[in-house]
Amino acid sequence: MALATSPVALAFQTQQVVRRRRLRRPPVWLHPRQIERSYARAFQLKTEEFIRQVKEVLLPALPAISAEADSELGLTRTDAWPDRVDKLLTTLRIGAAARATDVKALAIDVGQKTSRWNNKEWQKTLRKTVGVGLLSSEPGLSARLGLFATTDEKWFIGMQEAELNKLNGIIERGFSTGARHETVAKEIEASLGKTPQRARLTARDQVSKLNGRLTQMRQEDAGVSMYVWRDSDDTRVRTSHAAMDGKLCRWDDASVYSDDGGKTWKARSGIGGVELHPGQDILCRCFAEPYIQELAEEPASAPGRRERPQSDFARTQAKMLEEDSAKARARGISLKEFYRRQQAARRRARSAKRRRPAVSFESAIGEGSY
Ligand SMILES: [Zn+2]
Repeated sequence: MALATSPVALAFQTQQVVRRRRLRRPPVWLHPRQIERSYARAFQLKTEEFIRQVKEVLLPALPAISAEADSELGLTRTDAWPDRVDKLLTTLRIGAAARATDVKALAIDVGQKTSRWNNKEWQKTLRKTVGVGLLSSEPGLSARLGLFATTDEKWFIGMQEAELNKLNGIIERGFSTGARHETVAKEIEASLGKTPQRARLTARDQVSKLNGRLTQMRQEDAGVSMYVWRDSDDTRVRTSHAAMDGKLCRWDDASVYSDDGGKTWKARSGIGGVELHPGQDILCRCFAEPYIQELAEEPASAPGRRERPQSDFARTQAKMLEEDSAKARARGISLKEFYRRQQAARRRARSAKRRRPAVSFESAIGEGSY
């Protein structure tokens, strides 16, 4: 087995040295359902707050604007009423800016929660397959979370701005053609009607996409270049996603899959498969199961295995492995035997600890430990 440089490969190979065992299938990578739901709810509430303000400011003003517009029809145009509309819209824009700031704060929080969730699933997968969790510095993480927050903030700013421009159009068009204020009011309400639903779906989708991207980032950072597509096993799975279920895929090319363990790669279009990674399609709940097997193989056999600068974790692991090998050589035993003895010593220490009588609260205080 060639010594790999990726942290997961190293952890895995160390584990393989300790005990030769069959690789367990990775567990289901759980979707951050709860985070998605509560973010969607909060996003919807902020949108409803916007709509409420729009209605509170615009609707009561319509009869007066209508009267002014009527009196101007056929007379010399003074354009006093469009100024009034402009003033109302300015008030609404000030409210909109404040709300966008709230949305950004919300998105920063949700981004961090999603990342913690995603990392928990990743650690769970590693513990069950490789045998150890993994701590790494994740240099790309803060940029990714920052992008998430600004994208959502921009979406919200754009949504409010587009709605206000649309309403401006409805009012100006309506009153310059002599429409009744009740008609204009109805048009305004209709225009705003679908917005909360749209906001909710966008928020959910954003969490899904972020979760998918974080999965990709964490797997690739660890040197995992392939994954097995797993769909969410529910009835709403799209056929183009269901077609990918169980297929081996590669992170560097979303247009191909393999059904022979990565020996040959075929076009996904041939089986009607979606040409995206899990989580990238709208509201996709599929997940990428890391193809840990590749770490046990010769590095050359993995596709797109890029040369990466060693992470701190990888360096520490490599150093530990080197030191352990030296210790084993010094004692004239194999590395495998060295780890076996180490494990046995740890087991003895653990059971000795269990046998020790429990220290009473009083005696603990007496000994000065709190
Ligand atoms: Zn999907």
